[in-house]
Amino acid sequence: QSATKPPPPPSPLRNSKFYQSNMRILVTGGAGFIGSHLVDRLMENEKNEVIVVDNYFTGSKDNLKKWMGHPRFELIRHDVTEPLLVEVDQIYHLACPASPIFYKHNPVKTIKTNVMGTLNMLGLAKRVGARILLTSTSEVYGDPLVHPQPETYWGNVNPIGVRSCYDEGKRVAETLMFDYHRQHGIEIRVARIFNTYGPRMNIDDGRVVSNFIAQALRLMEGENTGPINIGNPGEFTMLELAENVKELINPKVKIISVDNTPDDPRQRKPDITKAKELLGWEPKVKLREGLPLMEEDFRLRLGVPKN
Ligand code: NAD
Ligand code: UDP
Repeated sequence: QSATKPPPPPSPLRNSKFYQSNMRILVTGGAGFIGSHLVDRLMENEKNEVIVVDNYFTGSKDNLKKWMGHPRFELIRHDVTEPLLVEVDQIYHLACPASPIFYKHNPVKTIKTNVMGTLNMLGLAKRVGARILLTSTSEVYGDPLVHPQPETYWGNVNPIGVRSCYDEGKRVAETLMFDYHRQHGIEIRVARIFNTYGPRMNIDDGRVVSNFIAQALRLMEGENTGPINIGNPGEFTMLELAENVKELINPKVKIISVDNTPDDPRQRKPDITKAKELLGWEPKVKLREGLPLMEEDFRLRLGVPKN
């Protein structure tokens, strides 16, 4: 037993195909925040070969450096808006900037990534007969008129706003997934992720991230197509969030209110009944526990010690 041996998988996974047969798995956007943690988890299984495709728009090779040169790992610089020819058994399709600052930077590129990128990955899935999982988003609910949001809610989205490249883009990506499923019999899985946070460097401490990954794996291996909401129903206002940060990190900072950006949803909270019932998943980390983990990681990266 080596010290680096991974812990046994969560019980619903133990008997799944994931742990029993060799698989070649493509992760698009694998150099990003969630993707790189997913790659770590997939690589723990010695039967998996992992191919990452990324254009490094928001991701970085640094996030994958521990796997460079590993015989079961391959990294390809590629933009998913271009066709891709590889032979794989499963596709986790994550490629897309997730932060508004980045996705608004080049909105046309963002919608191309969502539409053409997803189309290409579905074309690939169809050609090789692979199962494909899309990481969609709570943004498909827009500025919701129903609270909390169940997966059956169709959303309230501005089709021509500054966020539309992302939220309408993801809505089209979901449409493409279901059309390929209905028309071509492609096996699909759709997760709708709510705002995720956590340390990027402290992989082992990133409990929020690991939870998501375990859930994505369950989703990929299970029978349910989705969409399935993945998020924390613990609700708080932005002022409460600011006050928490102030109290935990620096009681001296001032909280200032500024105008919101256009079309930013006013209130959102996932209804996670489906995730609980179908995947046995629910979030474990409360905001007040999660924030210090992120603080620690940011201090490390910014070189600001806690005094
Ligand atoms: P991220 O920005 O860290 O990762 C996205 C990755 O995709 C990056 O490595 C980037 O370089 C790559 N990429 C972007 N455009 C590409 C293209 N055209 N071709 C190839 N690679 C490309 O974001 P993340 O937080 O890890 O999000 C991953 C996925 O999860 C995204 O699909 C995002 O929409 C979804 N999601 C994230 C959150 C969240 O809170 N982080 C919430 C909902 C959904
Ligand atoms: N595609 C791809 N890799 C593949 C197969 C297809 O990138 O291995 C792309 C292909 O170039 C096309 C898209 O996926 O742009 C959709 O392919 P599909 O075969 O579904 O549709 P068609 O090519 O008939 O439009």
